[in-house]
Amino acid sequence: MAKTHPQVRSPVLVHEDAVREFCRLARRGYETRGKQEMFGFLFGRRTPEGHLLVRHVRYYRGGTRTMYGISLPLTESRRRRRKLARDLNLRFLGSFHSHVEIAGRITRGMSDVDRESFRSDPAAPLEAVVFIWAGLKRTLRTNPLSVVGYEPSTGYHYRVRFYAKFANGIRRTRVRVHRSGIVIVY
Ligand SMILES: [Zn+2]
Repeated sequence: MAKTHPQVRSPVLVHEDAVREFCRLARRGYETRGKQEMFGFLFGRRTPEGHLLVRHVRYYRGGTRTMYGISLPLTESRRRRRKLARDLNLRFLGSFHSHVEIAGRITRGMSDVDRESFRSDPAAPLEAVVFIWAGLKRTLRTNPLSVVGYEPSTGYHYRVRFYAKFANGIRRTRVRVHRSGIVIVY
């Protein structure tokens, strides 16, 4: 029986440091042999207004990669994420993984396997997918349903999308980047 979550309030907020971490991890996977998908956990909190705020992203190195995704040691991975949440003094909010472009193709959206693993994780109200592909520079328009990024030094494009468990099922949510308030001057 799936645990119910209080209604996820749209948009999801994601701290800009967490956005950079998503991109960094996706890039690390993309640059490995065979272009691996990366997998990990999201930590944050629920704001007083009821929005979920993703504050930190942590890579999880356990698990084995299969043709259909990532197979996890369930007990160990859940123990690990509980410990990380305690250490960070934040709530576990869900998992993320990357989708990498291979030979010009990239899986858009959540696969059936992605949906099933999200659905079967009672502690996760949220799931993030990070897309990475290489391409010629072009202006990506901002979109309330995803966070987009471009890295001039590598030519990589990034897109981060969030899916949440709503009363009527799993749906993509709107997302807004939460700025740290510190302007870095170079
Ligand atoms: Zn996937």
